[in-house]
Parts: sequence; C-alpha cells; structure tokens
Amino acid sequence: MGRVLVIEDEPDLQELLRFNLQKEGHTVTVAGTGSDGLHELRRQPFDLVLLDLMLPDRDGLEVCRIVRGDESLSAMPIIMVTAKGEESDVVLGLGIGADDYVTKPFRVKELMARIRVRLSRHLDEERDAERRRIQIGDMTIDPVRHRVLIKDEAMPLTLTEFKLLHFLASHPGVVYGRYDLLDRIGDGESVVTDRTIDVHVRNLRKKLGGYEDLVETVRGVGYRFSELP
Ligand code: CA
Repeated sequence: MGRVLVIEDEPDLQELLRFNLQKEGHTVTVAGTGSDGLHELRRQPFDLVLLDLMLPDRDGLEVCRIVRGDESLSAMPIIMVTAKGEESDVVLGLGIGADDYVTKPFRVKELMARIRVRLSRHLDEERDAERRRIQIGDMTIDPVRHRVLIKDEAMPLTLTEFKLLHFLASHPGVVYGRYDLLDRIGDGESVVTDRTIDVHVRNLRKKLGGYEDLVETVRGVGYRFSELP
C-alpha cells in the first residue's frame, strides 16, 4: 500500500482510478494537468505516479522527463497510461524513464496488479536505501543513489569524491593510508599517485561546507573519518 499520484484529465477516469486505488488501500491524490501533477510531486512525498500521456497542458512525456531530471524525484516509479495508437509515444516514454505502461481502455484488475508489483519493488528499494544511508547531523550519505544531501540539498560531488566520503564515513575512526584509499575507490585504470588522494580530499572538503572537519588528516599516515560523538 502506498501513496499514489494520478495525473489524469478525464473526470470519469479520475474517479475510476481513485475508487479502485483506495479500495486497494492506497492513498490517492489526483491532479488534472501536468503542471498540477508536478506541483503535487514537489509538495508531498509519493510512492508511485500514474501518468496519462495526453494532458491539456504539457504532455505526459514532458512530465516524465522533468521527474527523471529532478534529483529528489528520479527514483519515483512511473506507470504511463496511453490511448490506442500512441504506441510510438510509449516507446519514447519507456526510453525516457517510465517504468511501465498500460493502454486505454485498460482492465482495472490488471492495472491494480501492475501497480502492486511496482510499488512493492519500490518500497523494498526504499527500505534498502534507508538501511544503508549514513546520517550525520544534517548530512545524509545515500549510497543507493550515490548522493550526499546537506539539509535536503544535494552536494555536487564527483563519483570519486562520493566513494571516498562514503568509504571513510562507513569506517569512522579508522586511519587509511593513501594507497589503501586509492585501492578502495579507484577505478583501477586512471594513472594515480598517492598525491591524487590529497587532491580528492581537498576538493571534497571544499564541498562539505560545515562538515569538512569530519575528514581528518593523520600526519604521515593518511586520512580518517572523525569518530562520531
Ligand atoms: Ca488525457
């Protein structure tokens, strides 16, 4: 059971979907235009979006593209609802990140089953992400999505900086030498020296704002993540 956003402009379908989703135990919000849908997505959390392709303002493809391009929404499951004859749009939709689609007229039972599958997969992934997340004050390190949030704002870390931070933060208090760290985070291909890691650490600290002191230099040895209080 999850929170479902229905972006659909036909009142009959809105009611049909709302009724059946609620019967399944989901919480339902209905938006009648693409813009309203995007507004709802930014206003409150959802677990799945049912997205009509033909909407009065922006079409479903554009909404899908915007959602996928948005750091905080990119993992949202999207099921597209299309009319017959829009198959080429379906292909396009799947290409830009819709997870599944149904064609109108659809069988309610089948749609509900697909929603159930997508939702349970998504909620499993969310639980997994939750378990693996590292929280330090206002900073969240999310290894599933490879991102770091400080006060809900994503930090623009490179992949190497992210790996470095995540590795150190996973082992607070342990000192690692420069070559040790390179082994753990390197791609095994780039030419590196032990000074490479210093450059990564310097860049990482710059981006960590108030948290830069968490990555400590241990003179003559390497680096360690500050022991958490
Ligand atoms: Ca429509």
